[in-house]
Parts: sequence; C-alpha cells; structure tokens
Amino acid sequence: MAEKLIIAQTIEEAVSLKDSSSIFLAGGTEINRLGSSCQAETLVSIGRIGMDAIDETEIDGQRFIRIGAMCTFQELIDSFSVPDYLREACLFMSSRTKRNMATIGGNIASARDDSYLLATLIASGAEVELDCKGKKHVSGVFRYLKEKKDYPDSLITAVLLPKKEISVFSKRYSNTASSHAYLTVSVSCVDGKYRIGASVKNAGVKRLVEIEDLVNAKSVSEEEIGKAVDLGIKDDMFGSEKYKRYLLGVTITDLMKKAAGGKK
Ligand SMILES: Cc1cc2nc3c(=O)[nH]c(=O)nc-3n(C[C@H](O)[C@H](O)[C@H](O)COP(=O)(O)OP(=O)(O)OC[C@H]3O[C@@H](n4cnc5c(N)ncnc54)[C@H](O)[C@@H]3O)c2cc1C
Repeated sequence: MAEKLIIAQTIEEAVSLKDSSSIFLAGGTEINRLGSSCQAETLVSIGRIGMDAIDETEIDGQRFIRIGAMCTFQELIDSFSVPDYLREACLFMSSRTKRNMATIGGNIASARDDSYLLATLIASGAEVELDCKGKKHVSGVFRYLKEKKDYPDSLITAVLLPKKEISVFSKRYSNTASSHAYLTVSVSCVDGKYRIGASVKNAGVKRLVEIEDLVNAKSVSEEEIGKAVDLGIKDDMFGSEKYKRYLLGVTITDLMKKAAGGKK
C-alpha cells in the first residue's frame, strides 16, 4: 500500500520524481487492482501533466497519429482520429467504468500477458515515445517491452501509430467478456506483408517473427503455423499446449485472410 501521493504538475517534474521506490499513477486501474504486483511506497500522479491530446506528427519523413499516453480507452473509442483497429481493441476492456479511467500508457507499461492492446499495437507497427530522465526516445512497442529494464523510470509520453492505409484484425479468447484472456492475436497486412502480435497467458507478449517469415515466404497450413514457433506455452487451466497451438494456427490463418482482403 502506497504511503505517499505526489501530484506532478509537469512532465519534467513527474520524470524527476520517479525512482525505484515510486510508480506513476495514471488511471490507477492496475495499481488499485486486487492482487496487483504494481505496488510502491510513493505514487507520482501524472493526471495533471497533459499528454492527453490526439494529433499528428512526422518523424524522419514518416507521418504518425500521435496519441497522448494519458488518453483513456473510452476517449480513444470516441475519437474519429483513432483507427478502427485500435478502437476495437479498446472494447476488449468490457467495463465502461474502467474504460473511463484506464489509459493507453498504463496498459503498455503494465506489459501484461493478457493485455488488451499490446498484440494490436505490435501488429500495427506502433511506436512509443519515451521521456527517459529528460532524454527523448522513440521505440517500437515490442522493442520497448524487450528493453524496458534498460529505461528504468522512463515515462511513456505518447503512442505513435503509422498514418497509412493498414488493415489490422484482432481476436481475443477468454471465458467471458470480463475474464482474463488466454490468447489475443493480431495480424496486419501492409504492402502484402503480414505482421503478427500475440499476448499468450503464462507465456508473454510476442511479435511472432518466425511465423511472419514463414507466411510471408509461402502458403502454409494452420498446423504448420501452430508448430512454427516455440511460444513457451504450457498446459494450464486454460487448456493444453496442443490446444493452444491449434488455436494459434486457426486464428492466424483466419486473421490473415481478413487482413489481406481488407485495405492494404
Ligand atoms: C478487474 C480488473 C481486470 C483487469 N484485466 C485486465 C486485462 O485482462 N488485461 C489488461 O491488459 N489489463 C487488465 N487490467 C489492468 C488495467 O485496467 C489496464 O492494464 C489499464 O490499461 C492500466 O492503465 P492505468 O492507466 O489504469 O494504469 P495505472 O494503474 O495507473 O498504472 C499501471 C502501471 O503502469 C505504469 N504507468 C502508467 N502510466 C505510465 C506512463 N505514461 N509511462 C510509464 N509508466 C506508466 C505505472 O507506473 C504502473 O506501474 C485489469 C484491471 C482490473 C481492475
């Protein structure tokens, strides 16, 4: 249980206050979740520092939709500037009350293996904009997750979505709309090439590069896709390893058909 709450007034103040004994308080839905491992002595509230605009930016000649990290799931759903694929992923959070509080930055930073958004963001080629103790840094979402420990105390300031015609389709498997998902898969198709992200309960969040290489090279069966990668999937309460490989194979095949048939 936190003992101290500091309400930062600027991005600079928030970043300077963050250390190993504190965590950022965004929407608070993960921090206040019963049983959450997100605990610290001090909470640094980032609710007053802005980071809530949705606009556009250009980096190295490439245009991006720039979504402030403090935008809530419901704000993203209500915004016509946000692509349908991300609005649909936000609806995986079934509670409107929670959608009014939970932020996109908080969801990425939580890096949960049943994440609502990470598979979709990875498949879309999204990037995160970070403030690492005053130094700005931009990284692909999957790379950020892999290298998160190299940026301790960094603040996600925004999420950048490539502003181009891109089709992304996602599917989430859980027992009920409000249960934790055991598998969320997203596939995008850009210029005829597939990109695949997945959140696999008890195995982690992945970009499935081995499967991308396979399906981008030739036509393969659902079974081959299921076998193509070692996800570190285990038998657990959600099903056997074999069942999850089967599910992964049929889901990727189905989403690839949708992504290729949609806008390119
Ligand atoms: C009943 C229940 C079920 C849930 N189920 C799921 C689920 O199935 N899938 C899922 O993904 N989530 C789930 N959540 C967790 C949570 O609702 C979401 O992950 C949410 O998006 C977290 O955002 P937040 O703004 O509330 O983060 P907070 O709770 O405020 O913060 C969470 C963590 O992110 C860090 N953080 C927040 N913002 C930033 C930032 N801008 N930069 C750097 N670090 C930051 C904080 O330091 C903290 O460590 C559930 C929560 C509840 C209460």
